[in-house]
Amino acid sequence: MQSTLIIGGGTIGLSIGWQLARRGQPVELFERDETGRATSWLAAGMLAAGAEIGFEELDLYRLNLESLRRWPDFAAALEEESGRVVDFRTEGTLLVADDRDAAEALKRRYDFMRERKLGVRWLTGAEALEREPFVAPRLAAAVFSPGDYQVDNRLFVDALKEAFVRRGGVLHEHTTVDVIEPHADVPAVRTHAGERVEGSCVVVAAGVWSRDIAGLEPAQNPPVRPVKGQMIELKREAPFDLKHVIRGPGAYIAPKSSGRILIGATSEEMGFDQRVTAGGMHGLLDGAWRIVPGIFDLPIADTWAGLRPASRDHLPIIGPAGAHGVVIATGFYRHGVLLSPVASQEVARLILTGETSDWIHPFLPARFTMG
Ligand SMILES: Cc1cc2nc3c(=O)[nH]c(=O)nc-3n(C[C@H](O)[C@H](O)[C@H](O)COP(=O)(O)OP(=O)(O)OC[C@H]3O[C@@H](n4cnc5c(N)ncnc54)[C@H](O)[C@@H]3O)c2cc1C
Repeated sequence: MQSTLIIGGGTIGLSIGWQLARRGQPVELFERDETGRATSWLAAGMLAAGAEIGFEELDLYRLNLESLRRWPDFAAALEEESGRVVDFRTEGTLLVADDRDAAEALKRRYDFMRERKLGVRWLTGAEALEREPFVAPRLAAAVFSPGDYQVDNRLFVDALKEAFVRRGGVLHEHTTVDVIEPHADVPAVRTHAGERVEGSCVVVAAGVWSRDIAGLEPAQNPPVRPVKGQMIELKREAPFDLKHVIRGPGAYIAPKSSGRILIGATSEEMGFDQRVTAGGMHGLLDGAWRIVPGIFDLPIADTWAGLRPASRDHLPIIGPAGAHGVVIATGFYRHGVLLSPVASQEVARLILTGETSDWIHPFLPARFTMG
């Protein structure tokens, strides 16, 4: 049996590879660096369906919610098959407002989430403080979203790699794919070192670099661009502690069990620039300090900037490329970690059965080439 060839070893490529391998399909994955060290490494690992989308993005909202529903089983299976923990946490999110203006905006999001039966609860500032003692003492309002989860994205991608390999997946790290050769029966990839590898199907999961690989017609290249996000990692020190993800108007704070406390994230159209800037850090620290003043004394452990793969309409691009034997899985923008279960399971289904499920139908690459 010919292998599925996956280009890109981020959360998307690794998840697809693992799902295929555990269904008995031979898979070879090509990663130009070490797996999981690009955008997926630089994320915050929040798994929240309604906190960060536009009110008009209902298809994406439904996909987010479905993936969230699949997360507990996905995490449990991954931990079992990899023998590693991924720090899957279920305390939920506190969305907080520090002034009247922010409280009005929060109320609109609360109504949106409530209409969709997300089980959210409106809290006064005092109630929020009771639930999470380190939030600012005079918050204007808060919303508790108990159905949100989070994961440590770094532990997650390393566990995916382990599970993929344990299931017999073949990993080519430090191997760049330069060219895709579409073909109805035996599509192939050509590596930078000049090797040609044939397979049964090629999956393009190269994140923000997905449009840079040669071989597809210009219109078939997924229209993704980088949207820069700067982040700060603080180190937890007693007595400071947080249980929930805290999301305010200027920043969010995601505490991991290891003591990493992540503050994110800016959203900047700066091409492939990954520099950390004074303005970016200032904005994040100010936004985080306003909602959780106790961060003030914590040491900074690290800072970085990652590149979110955003499509032209900010929705994922999942499905046949329009070139024989090539499938696209990119454009996951702010939600690639959250969407890993649904995207990988539905792409595996597409590859194994040829069936385009209703879940991925709104996100087909063909929407960019038709009409
Ligand atoms: C600051 C920040 C915070 C975020 N927070 C969250 C969050 O809380 N929750 C959430 O769900 N999402 C979050 N995201 C978004 C999420 O990180 C992305 O959607 C996701 O990581 C995309 O995964 P990917 O596998 O498509 O891309 P990547 O992780 O970038 O993987 C693509 C891989 O392809 C490889 N590659 C590229 N070109 C080639 C080639 N030619 N040959 C071989 N390999 C190649 C790259 O080296 C890379 O490893 C965040 C993003 C950022 C930047």
